[in-house]
Amino acid sequence: MGDLARLVDLQDLDNRIGAARHRLANLPERAELTTRQAELAALDAAIAAADAPLRALEADQRRLEDEVASLRDKIAREDARLYDGSVTALKELQAIQDEIASLRRRVDTLEDRLLDVLVELEPLQSAAAERATGRTDLVAAVAAAEGRLVAAEAAGRADLGALEGERPGLVDAVGADGVARYERLRPAFAPATVVRLVGSRCEGCPSAMPAMEVDRLRHLPAGLDECEECGRLVLH
Ligand SMILES: [Zn+2]
Repeated sequence: MGDLARLVDLQDLDNRIGAARHRLANLPERAELTTRQAELAALDAAIAAADAPLRALEADQRRLEDEVASLRDKIAREDARLYDGSVTALKELQAIQDEIASLRRRVDTLEDRLLDVLVELEPLQSAAAERATGRTDLVAAVAAAEGRLVAAEAAGRADLGALEGERPGLVDAVGADGVARYERLRPAFAPATVVRLVGSRCEGCPSAMPAMEVDRLRHLPAGLDECEECGRLVLH
């Protein structure tokens, strides 16, 4: 025969295990990490939107630079033809020189536009660099929040593990029969499945227990009985 009075300790332990599980499932560190991650996602979206004009100008810059480079190649090729002896007719040589002059004017025009683009780019690039710095801070905040969550989860699991480790000993102390009765009723009555009879009152009943019921319990051998009023297990 187990020690039924220890059922109160088992119930207390189960309540603490439940609280530890609840804490582990609702760590404020997890909510904080979710908040920081949402902030980072929002910042990334804002940065992408704010950087759009910069990206468009950078594309203009690349296109102009490519175009200038290819015109310069063409000028160099035409220039070589003037002097490599492959062309001797004066009229043709003159045509090549005109072509080179035309290509150079085109290069000048493109380089002016390129300069305008570079001037326009500068403030956009500084603003983008500032936004990137703000992002670095937030990335660090996300990493720090992840670290705190990992630590809090480890601590919470250790707490829960320690409490669960105490349970088998108490289950043995109470005995299989008492534990079975307790566990059958616990889903309906937790966290107060096992109550005491205090004076003429069942702790689980909202009002005083009818005298007859008190009398009935008082006359039963000391032990564990279901209260006919509230259905809980009354230790008496
Ligand atoms: Zn009761």
